[in-house]
Amino acid sequence: MEPLNRERFNQNLKMRVRKVIENYQLFKEEETIAVAISGGKDSVLTLHLLNDFKEEFNLHLLAISIDEGISGYREKGLKIARENTDKLGIELVEKSFSAEINRKLDQIAHLYKSSCIPCGIFRRYILNKTAYQLGADKLATGHNLDDEVQSFLMSFARADFRRFPKFGPKLQQIHPKLIPRIKPLWNISEKDVGTWAVLNDISVHFGDCPYAQKSLRSKIKNYLNIMEEDHPGTKMNILESFRKSFQSSEKMVKLLECDRCGEPSSLNICKACQMREEMG
Ligand code: SF4
Ligand SMILES: [Zn+2]
Repeated sequence: MEPLNRERFNQNLKMRVRKVIENYQLFKEEETIAVAISGGKDSVLTLHLLNDFKEEFNLHLLAISIDEGISGYREKGLKIARENTDKLGIELVEKSFSAEINRKLDQIAHLYKSSCIPCGIFRRYILNKTAYQLGADKLATGHNLDDEVQSFLMSFARADFRRFPKFGPKLQQIHPKLIPRIKPLWNISEKDVGTWAVLNDISVHFGDCPYAQKSLRSKIKNYLNIMEEDHPGTKMNILESFRKSFQSSEKMVKLLECDRCGEPSSLNICKACQMREEMG
């Protein structure tokens, strides 16, 4: 097989991301974009790509990292997040579960069937709150094609139709305090993200979260990888089917403000505050 040409690969990747940016108008000129960075390959690539588009769109970029408190895992990612933001000259704002909710994920993980439930709820909560405080217009996450298809199938398997409007490369602003999330890597496979990091010798954290194995996501991920191997194009086809089926029926849930913390919420008390109450 012909060896991969780095320049050609990078150009093709950038062209596919540009398509998503333009087709879905992910951002406008002169906007402030906060990039959620964990140090993993997806968030690092998102940061580098947006930095590549920075001049053309006159963007103001900043980065936010969250230390969930996962011993032996997150420290490495955070170190890489610092290295990459330093290298690109982008301000990094560091937040942690310890400071924001008084608990590390390691201390509360056993209370839930899957640690990803409190992890996701508190991470989204802190990211949105921080991006809002920093005056960001958009919050960019590193969700790639694989993540999106996995999340879609997870919601589908749980008949969680309320989550359907949350798919897609750009989420609408449905509350003034909810920063619209954008996913520049929406049509880029995890494999391509990994190839980018290796070809360009970029410092990324390749380790797996110790809690990941127990999650439904991990099982769906394994299943999809087998399907993709046997029937190449399966992941992209699922994404396309989803896009075509739900695009026309997009209905966003109206958001209230949490009675306790004032953050956007679909209920009177937001999920983060409910969880905090359960934890005492
Ligand atoms: S795998 Fe689950 S617990 Fe680990 S960082 Fe991701 S969401 Fe959090
Ligand atoms: Zn709340």
